[in-house]
Amino acid sequence: MYTIKSYVFPESLEEADELLQRDCRNNAILGGCCWLKLGRRRIRSAIDLSKLGLDQIEVRDGFLELGACVTLRQLETNPHVTARFDGILGRSVSHIVGVQFRNCATVGGSVFSRFGFSDLTCALLALDTTVVLQRGGELPLAEFLASPIAFNDILLKVRIRDDGRHAAYESVRRSTTDFPTLAVAVSCLEGRWKVSVGARPARAVLSDDAARCLESGEGPAAAGAAAANELVYGSDLRAGGDYRKKLAAVLVRRAAQTCMERENKG
Ligand SMILES: Cc1cc2nc3c(=O)[nH]c(=O)nc-3n(C[C@H](O)[C@H](O)[C@H](O)COP(=O)(O)OP(=O)(O)OC[C@H]3O[C@@H](n4cnc5c(N)ncnc54)[C@H](O)[C@@H]3O)c2cc1C
Repeated sequence: MYTIKSYVFPESLEEADELLQRDCRNNAILGGCCWLKLGRRRIRSAIDLSKLGLDQIEVRDGFLELGACVTLRQLETNPHVTARFDGILGRSVSHIVGVQFRNCATVGGSVFSRFGFSDLTCALLALDTTVVLQRGGELPLAEFLASPIAFNDILLKVRIRDDGRHAAYESVRRSTTDFPTLAVAVSCLEGRWKVSVGARPARAVLSDDAARCLESGEGPAAAGAAAANELVYGSDLRAGGDYRKKLAAVLVRRAAQTCMERENKG
């Protein structure tokens, strides 16, 4: 549980930024508060972004843009999102806890936190995705995920190139709503592939070797074996590293096969 001394609704991004900079160790940007509730933080100023119009999903200038306050449930129900990338964004979050939870948890809180287990991050990484930060500007998601968390910044939105690529998502969970034991997303655009593997249990990363296998026509099984061999798989209470490695081979193969079939159908 957390405690909050003062709860603030900034009227502009500049005001939100200024409030955060006053004491970024003790002040906090609020997403849906689902994760914050699990901690024991004493928040001096809780900065609620809900008056800043960041709950919008827009298709603009060739990009699908997801504001930081967009909820996970919106990814499952918004027609702009479900109609693109074979609906993998909505599908990737559909096993997270339950609908009421997904009506609260946000894109901003999920991406900014860089959770290793994040289904959404894994799916976004297989697309052409950038994040837009108040201070850090716009940078590719892969670069953002590889950098340490800057607690003095605010994630404003996620931008995905609306390039019509096909995609597929697969995860394995010990029970339906558990955290993923392993997650995989694959996409293909004009013969160029991206293969993302998350919940290793470390953060999602791309497997370049798996992508190369698919680009050179070696097929889904070879891509699965390549992702299993290239990436590092660790152990935690959900699974051992060896098991995750075996899962990676299977899930990458399945996702690549599905993506290929979608690509062939057009
Ligand atoms: C019980 C439980 C089960 C879960 N299971 C899964 C699962 O299976 N798969 C999965 O992918 N995820 C899972 N999650 C994570 C969940 O999907 C969200 O990613 C998580 O709750 C964070 O989103 P939030 O909006 O609640 O963020 P919050 O809890 O509000 O914030 C989390 C952190 O991010 C910061 N923050 C929030 N928004 C911003 C912003 N715009 N800019 C900068 N900093 C920001 C906050 O200050 C805080 O430090 C689970 C979470 C819980 C609590």
